[in-house]
Parts: sequence; structure tokens; C-alpha cells
Amino acid sequence: MEERSDMREKLVFLETFGCQMNDSDSERMLGILKGINFARTDDPGSADLILLNTCTVRDKAEQKVYSTLGRYKELKKARPGLIIGVGGCVAQQQGEKLLKRAPHLDIVFGPHNVHRLRELLLEADSGQRVVATRLTETIDADEYGVTGSSSGEKAFVSIMRGCNNFCSYCIVPYVRGREISRPSSEIIKEIKGLVSRGVKEVTLIGQNVNSYGRGLHEGIGFPTLLREVNGIEGLRRIRFMTSHPKDILDPLISSFGELEKLCEHLHLPVQSGSNSVLKRMNRSYTREAYLSRVQALRDLSPGISLTSDIIVGFPGESDEDFDATMDLIEKVRYDAIFSFKFSPRLETKAADMPDQVDEGLKDKRLLILQERQREISLEKNIEYEGRVVEVLVEGGSEKNHERLSGKTRSFKTVKFDGNEELVGELVQVRIVKGYVNSLIGEMIEKG
Ligand code: SAM
Ligand code: SF4
Repeated sequence: MEERSDMREKLVFLETFGCQMNDSDSERMLGILKGINFARTDDPGSADLILLNTCTVRDKAEQKVYSTLGRYKELKKARPGLIIGVGGCVAQQQGEKLLKRAPHLDIVFGPHNVHRLRELLLEADSGQRVVATRLTETIDADEYGVTGSSSGEKAFVSIMRGCNNFCSYCIVPYVRGREISRPSSEIIKEIKGLVSRGVKEVTLIGQNVNSYGRGLHEGIGFPTLLREVNGIEGLRRIRFMTSHPKDILDPLISSFGELEKLCEHLHLPVQSGSNSVLKRMNRSYTREAYLSRVQALRDLSPGISLTSDIIVGFPGESDEDFDATMDLIEKVRYDAIFSFKFSPRLETKAADMPDQVDEGLKDKRLLILQERQREISLEKNIEYEGRVVEVLVEGGSEKNHERLSGKTRSFKTVKFDGNEELVGELVQVRIVKGYVNSLIGEMIEKG
């Protein structure tokens, strides 16, 4: 078998669906591929390898994967040497069935098998069709730490994998396995490596980062990990996601007042404002407990921006339940929300619950929720007008290289005029106009 590192540079086309865990897994894939002489292309037609990193959290996301995969059938026919792989949560859930469904597919690999990509490619090169969907209870030594291909200003760092919460609507625990944390020494080493390559901002990711450390022998919790990361020289900003409201305890809340690198933004998915729905969702908190956590956060960090995930049309959701969600968004006044119609997922409890909500009613509720949230987001963004904020510059607009965009510490997108050389820098920007999804500003100074 010929090793890819001995061959001419090859091209990979990689498409990522779904959440930040998948973004991070895709970075690991690109890191591994870079090591065996692959470069990234944005043209599937010229690729030697096509990878789809998939999401199965909602049916819509899953269907998108199938239609995308269908599009590559002709490419494979024209070039039989092309290798096509499907990774991520659909791969984990469907396994062998995916190979049957798509005869042009070569590799199916789940989230616990990303680090085996090189070996899987060699098998596919030799003409085998490969399925790698084993779920492991321990983290393999070489599973993490291959940090991406990009040399950007920010990076995701997985601090744990899996989830033990079994929210009744959610497929994640089935496709990503049980919760397990990485040792803090490995996380710190990875972040130091990233910083030495120019990364200024890291986002620590996991399905429920607040429970980081459970099961580790080192007796460390998430607030302590945050403090250690905060001490890394050269790192400028820290973010994390996702936090489960049931685990957002005082020491974590205090971190927002104490750690200067921790950005003033928290994604704290509430899912519903109704206690009876929360109970059936198995979320283990009440709206009152949630609101008191929000109050505690705002007492300590008044300007903190809050975002959330909300599901409408959960089985049995009555008009009163939905009104309770609408009331909750008035009380919290989120900066932004991600809102979804409940989508029944195989194996989950909620899929079989009685009183499934009619699709039309779900649509109606989603619209009402999103319209009101747009107004709140706009009001909150208008409050920024006149303020001077720190922006980490992420890139220029494709059409206009003098039009830059970046993020505030509070996770707002800011657009302003400036030289493309500022990409990757922290700059001070005065906000002149707030829109629903972004702010427009003018740069004052660098640094
Ligand atoms: N671990 C995170 C948490 O606990 O909030 C998020 C994980 S999930 C990938 C992201 C979001 O998808 C969830 O917060 C939820 O709002 C939404 N989601 C999950 N399952 C869903 C389903 N069956 N139907 C609709 N939305 C769903
Ligand atoms: Fe899914 Fe709940 Fe786990 Fe989040 S905490 S991944 S919503 S089961």
C-alpha cells in the first residue's frame, strides 16, 4: 500500500453540517489530512476525496446530507478513483445502512473514529468499503491534539465528548456516547500550541462543559480549568459552549467577574419557558431556577450577552406552555436565540410521546417566537450605538477587501472599514449603527 505522504498533493473537499462539535471534528480531519499531503479545495469537482461531516439532531439536517451525497454520484461515476466518506452523527446512526443506501460511498465513520481517518483512507484506497462506528468509553491517546489545518486567530478546543443527560428529544447521547473529559494537562498543552501559532481566542467546547472533570482522577472542575486557561500567556480571549442550566453553579458564575480573558457572553439553552414541558424534556431545572441563574449572572456581569436554544412544538406543548416561553424571552431579553421546531428522532423518548404537535402549529409558533426575538435583538443592538468595543478581526468581505468583520467580546458581529492586514488583530471600534444581526462601526485604533 502506497503511503499518501509519498504522493503528489491531493485535494479534499470537506463540507460540515451541524454544531461546533462537528466544526471541531472537521478541523481534526483537516489536520490529519494535511499530514498526509492533502490540501483543501472548495470545488468538489476537482477533489480526490470528498468528506461530509454530518448532523442528525433534526430530520431536516439529516435529509440535507442525503441530498448532498446524491449530488456526488455523477462525480464518482466520472472518476472512480474519487473517495467519498461520510463522518459525524448520521454516519454513526446509520452505519452499514448508509453504504447500502449510497453505492458510491466508500467510508462511513462516526465521531469516535475521526482520528482513524488516515487508516480508513488506506483501506478505501485498496478498494474496500469501510464502516468505522465503534463507540468507545475511553479516549484514545491520539484522539485529540491534532489541531487543525487553519492558522486563524481563533480555534475550538474539545474539552470533553459525549453526553449523559438524555434530554428526551435529543439524539446526541446515542450518537456521541457517554460523557468523558480530557485531562486538563492535554487541553492546556493543545491551547499553548495554538497560541504559539497565532491563535488569540479559544472556545472550549463540549455538550455540557459545566460538568467538565466528572470522572477524571485529577479532581478538577470547569471553573478551575477556566482559571488555568486564563493563565496561558499570549491568549487573549476565552469562550465556552454549551452550558447546561442545571449545572451553572456559583463558582462558574463568579468566573465572569474574575477572569479577564473570559468573554462576556454565555450560551445557556433554555429550550422552553414552561415547567411542564421542561419536565417532559428531562431538563432537570425549572423556569424559576433558570431565571434566578440569569439574575445572578447579570448581578455580577451586567453587560453579559445571553443567547439560547429554544424548541417549539414539543409533544403536548399547549398554548399556555408556548405563552410561558414567550414570557420567558421577555424576561430574559436574549441577545439572540437559535429556535427550532421539535423534530422526532429515532430512539428518543419524545418521539413516542402522545400529543405530537401539528406541523402547521409548530410553524406558526416558530414564526411568532422569531419575530419577537428579532425585535428584542434589534433593541439590544441599538443600545450599542455610540459605544467603543474591542473587536477581534476575522476577515474581509469577499466583495470588498476594505470591509472587515469581527466579533466583540459579547459575541456581536461588527462590520467596519479597514485594511485586510488587520485580520487576526484586536482593534477598538466605535459602533455607529445596530441592526438585528450585526453592528456597523468605525475603527478607532489597533490594539
Ligand atoms: N448540548 C447542548 C445543550 O444541552 O443545549 C446542545 C446540543 S444540540 C446539538 C443543539 C440544540 O438542538 C439543542 O439545544 C436543541 O435546542 C436542539 N435540538 C436537539 N434535539 C432536537 C430535536 N429533536 N428537535 C428540535 N431541536 C432539537
Ligand atoms: Fe442533547 Fe441534552 Fe445532552 Fe444537550 S444536554 S446534548 S440537548 S441530551
